[in-house]
Amino acid sequence: MTTVELPITEEQEMLRDTVRAFAHDVLEPQAVEIDRNQRFPLDTFKQLAEMGLLGLPIDEEFEGAGCDTVTMALVIEELAKVCGSTALGVAAHTSLCLSPIDMFGNEDQRSRYVADLASGRKLGAFGLTEPNAGSDAGGTQTTAVRDGDDYVLNGTKIFITNANYADTFIATAVTDREKGTRGGISSFILERGMDGFAINKGDEKLGMRGSDWGELAFADCRVPAANLLGAEGQGFANFMKTLDGGRIGIASLSLGLAEGAFERSLKYAQERVAFGKPIAEQQAISFKLADMATQIEAASHLVRHAAEFKDAGKPFSRQAAMAKLFASEAAMKITFDAIQIHGGYGFTTEYHVERMYRDAKLCTIGEGTSEIQRIVISRDILKS
Ligand SMILES: Cc1cc2nc3c(=O)[nH]c(=O)nc-3n(C[C@H](O)[C@H](O)[C@H](O)COP(=O)(O)OP(=O)(O)OC[C@H]3O[C@@H](n4cnc5c(N)ncnc54)[C@H](O)[C@@H]3O)c2cc1C
Repeated sequence: MTTVELPITEEQEMLRDTVRAFAHDVLEPQAVEIDRNQRFPLDTFKQLAEMGLLGLPIDEEFEGAGCDTVTMALVIEELAKVCGSTALGVAAHTSLCLSPIDMFGNEDQRSRYVADLASGRKLGAFGLTEPNAGSDAGGTQTTAVRDGDDYVLNGTKIFITNANYADTFIATAVTDREKGTRGGISSFILERGMDGFAINKGDEKLGMRGSDWGELAFADCRVPAANLLGAEGQGFANFMKTLDGGRIGIASLSLGLAEGAFERSLKYAQERVAFGKPIAEQQAISFKLADMATQIEAASHLVRHAAEFKDAGKPFSRQAAMAKLFASEAAMKITFDAIQIHGGYGFTTEYHVERMYRDAKLCTIGEGTSEIQRIVISRDILKS
């Protein structure tokens, strides 16, 4: 055992081994290519759907797998050990689109959307970030004005994961400017092809290049009032809860990237000979390995702790923020050191660790930057 393995049930072990084999057989051979060509692996998502991996936390009655958060975290971690981009697409679909519809949707909305998303017949995306409102999501400028049985949306969302392949979207918009974050922001379920809803390709990316992203542009886009997700004005509170859950996903993703880079580094350090012995026997290298393993162990416990809090129905905002903050910063450090251990080979694409380093950077930014996690944690500490 090279990295920490916390206790899991037999069922979780079986699922983890299945995902591990899939990652090895399917994701690994294409990881470098999809990164180089910035190609979203649509066929892989069809396979993930067939394996039931696109609806893990959803009840079986809606074609989900009925798994808990600990299991979901294990799956994201396994995917990310090999391909961060694929893990990100799965996490965004599940935690940011499917779960909020399942959590905040009414019976009609759940019956119209949840099974299609959980089965993977449809892919989901979540539009919160705007050109002038990211961390400060309360500064959302997109508007939604009620007009008869519809709301009319105007505005733009950027950096939206899965945008160009998704069928179902959640987007936030201001319904009452005066009320601001206290009841003035609502969220809506949108479908590809709605009048006035355009999806544009995103810019070239540093990392997570096999994950799709794009821009959602609303120009007098009419959304039926029946697609208001939750009560009017509840959008801000609901996406804060959504992001708490999503952060456990990004923390697991960070952990997976860190473990993937560590496992490759350990193997390389034992094989690569310099000055007459494997470089792992040089203390400078073995200490790096020790630091990596220690950070991975700590991150694993934080991720598990947050997931268990969520599964137990306890407030888990602080735990999720701590797990995400620590695991993403650890992933940056570990993938950076992994390149150093690989020397010049680490600088090539063939050894994967430079890709993992670029992918890890997303984890300190998406679903709340490290600075925002510190705000969440410190507010929670000071409140109590
Ligand atoms: C690959 C990728 C995928 C993404 N996918 C999605 C998606 O699917 N849906 C979606 O809605 N968004 C998505 N995002 C957007 C992401 O959530 C935002 O980029 C992130 O929240 C930061 O917002 P910003 O880019 O506007 O940066 P800003 O908010 O402008 O922040 C810039 C810097 O200022 C710091 N800062 C801001 N406010 C404070 C403060 N109060 N105190 C201290 N520091 C502060 C930030 O930490 C950061 O370092 C994605 C981003 C990336 C890179």
